[in-house]
Formats: sequence, structure tokens, C-alpha cells
Amino acid sequence: MKQHELISKITDIHTHYGHFGGHEYTPEEVMQKMKNIGIKSYAIMPAIPINDDDHIPDNHGVLQFVKNKDAKVIPILMTSPKMIKIDPLFNKVSDIPYKIIKIHPYGHNWGLYPDLIEIILKHARLKKLPVMIHTGYDESEPKNFESWFKHYSDIKFILAHGKPPDQAKEMLDAYSNVWVDISFMDINGIGLISSKKNNDRILFGTDIPITEYFLKISSEEYFNNRLNELVDHFGTETILKWGKNNIEKVLGNDNTVN
Ligand SMILES: [Zn+2]
Repeated sequence: MKQHELISKITDIHTHYGHFGGHEYTPEEVMQKMKNIGIKSYAIMPAIPINDDDHIPDNHGVLQFVKNKDAKVIPILMTSPKMIKIDPLFNKVSDIPYKIIKIHPYGHNWGLYPDLIEIILKHARLKKLPVMIHTGYDESEPKNFESWFKHYSDIKFILAHGKPPDQAKEMLDAYSNVWVDISFMDINGIGLISSKKNNDRILFGTDIPITEYFLKISSEEYFNNRLNELVDHFGTETILKWGKNNIEKVLGNDNTVN
């Protein structure tokens, strides 16, 4: 399969718009990047400032993407402590057709607000939506959320970035409701988590255009390099599985044929 054909079939589960690293990635700019890449389906959320629990994420910016006919766009609802405090019933975002809810325990001090976390998880349960959690080498390490995986076994949890990989693997092995998106994971880490058993719960994602800030190359170049690297190591069939079949499954559309 040619690279452009593969790109047209897969969904990127992790992309952003908004302010990051001193640049405003407007919806127009991000839509253009995605069009240049040739991707026809992506899940997207606003970027957030780090350590501002009172910041209200610009979730409504996603509506510009939803109207765009170039691609199918899946809104991810970014949460913050203040946002949930002032709107625990999610009324202010009820006009957004979000399909995933994001919790960022590095960007926000979520450890201080267990009651607000409970509100989010109960809302996700009610709406039957997956919850994406930022993970990393800090307070956002996967083990810290093990009680969520256990107590909300009906919710699908997506560990964004799967870091550290050994912990991501441990959680994948232990909980069938845990998934991993491979954005920003290195090849060795992906190799570690992608056992035969866990291959059904790995998702293709890139974190574009945040990649521009960290890697200093264009989103278009990064996407192409990354996809080549992934195909080289894991093969086209596996990338199709992570970028299409598994994404349909995590979103609850496994019967959809398109
Ligand atoms: Zn991200």
C-alpha cells in the first residue's frame, strides 16, 4: 500500500489546536496542515497552559473543525478543574459533539480535586465515552490512575503517550479497559507494549502540531517520517489496525464500515 493511501485510511487520535509554545495554532492553520498531510480523520482538542487550574480550555474552537468538509473530525473535550467546578453538568459544552474526554494530570493539579475527577468519570460513564489521560514520567504516571481503571471498569481509558512504557504495559496487561495512544512514544517503548494480546488496544496518534515545538520540524514532515518509521518497524497491517480498526473499537463504532 502506498503511503498516501495508508494516510487516507487512518485516524490520528491525538491532535491539537490553540496556543502552545508561543504560537497560536488557529483552526484554519491546523486544518491546512492536516489537508497537506492528507489525513481524512483526526481527533482534536485545545492545547492548554501548564499549571493553571483556573484556565477554561477553548473547547468551542473545535466547532470550526466539525464544519470543515475536508476531514472527519472527532472532538476531544479538554477538562480543567475550574471548568468542572463551574459547570459540573457539562451544560456549557453541550453543543459540542465530543466523543472523548481528556484529563491532563500534568497540566493541571488534578490530585487536589478527587471530587471533580469523580464528576468527570461519572459523566463519561453516563455518556459511554472513553477518557484520555496524559501520562508521563511524573505525577501523571499510569499507576497513579489504577483505581480509576478498577472502579470504572466500564470506561475505556486511553493512556496518551504510554509513558513510562513499562507501566503502560503493566496496566494494559492488567486491565482490559486500558488502551494506549502512541503519540510521542519511541519505537522501543511501542515495541515493549505491543504484545499480541495488547495489540487490539494500541491507537495511532501523533500530538501534531505540538511536535513542531519539541522536534523543530513541520507537522507535515514529522507525520510522514513517523509513519515511515512505524511501517518499517511494525508493518502496514499493524498500522492499519492501530489507526483504523482499534480506533473504531475505542470509539464504539466497531460495526461501522467506511
Ligand atoms: Zn497532546
